[in-house]
Amino acid sequence: MTKGRLIIISGPSGIGKGTVCKELFKQDDSLVPSVSWTTREKRKGEEEGVTYFYRTDEEFDRMIESGGFLEYAGIYGGRYGTPRDYVEKRMAEGKNVILEIETKGAMAVMEKAPEAVSIYLLPPTMRVLRDRLVGRGREGYEKAMERFRCAYGEIDLARAYRYVIVNEDLHDTVQKIEDALRGAYRNPEDLEDRIRILKEETEL
Ligand code: ADP
Ligand code: 5GP
Repeated sequence: MTKGRLIIISGPSGIGKGTVCKELFKQDDSLVPSVSWTTREKRKGEEEGVTYFYRTDEEFDRMIESGGFLEYAGIYGGRYGTPRDYVEKRMAEGKNVILEIETKGAMAVMEKAPEAVSIYLLPPTMRVLRDRLVGRGREGYEKAMERFRCAYGEIDLARAYRYVIVNEDLHDTVQKIEDALRGAYRNPEDLEDRIRILKEETEL
């Protein structure tokens, strides 16, 4: 059996990673999610072993010590890590495994596994990003705005990824990701201008 590929999907909080991935899993059964470990609290509607493996700080530390994570990072007050065994097992089954992870972890994976397909989602405008984050209504206004302010520092990181996709229309984005996986997607020609304009968009 051919070994599956490792795919990284990253981008600022609220850009639509979860939504886009859900759509990808629906329409392409070669793709499966990696299920991360986290120390954060389980939210309503989430499920052990499906959304995350919920673990204590001590368990997380032990996993780090035993070299069990492909990568791990701390963000928004919680710790998150990709379990190496889980990912390798799914890839050995021929599945293409998607890591939906934040940027520090993504950089670590790119270093360790340069063959991974890395994809960064950018917002069409910062206002759209803010509206999506706040509109999602998951973490409350203040926390959502904290995440939004962090996004300004993450836009430049897009350049480190193989593929950059502006998540404007959901179905268009999903199609572009499928194109990227076939090597048939080209980054926007105006990528540098887009990055500059996003960063210049005054804090809202
Ligand atoms: P992330 O996983 O990156 O934090 P989510 O998937 O939770 O982001 O998406 C944040 C919000 O944006 C959700 O309310 C989602 O429905 C919405 N959203 C995501 N992608 C799009 C899109 N292409 N067009 C409009 N709304 C979107
Ligand atoms: P949330 O708490 O909203 O589920 O996730 C917060 C952030 O952690 C998101 O940006 C998500 O992509 C990221 N994340 C989830 N799992 C992992 C992981 O295993 N490693 C890293 N580095 N980031 C993760």
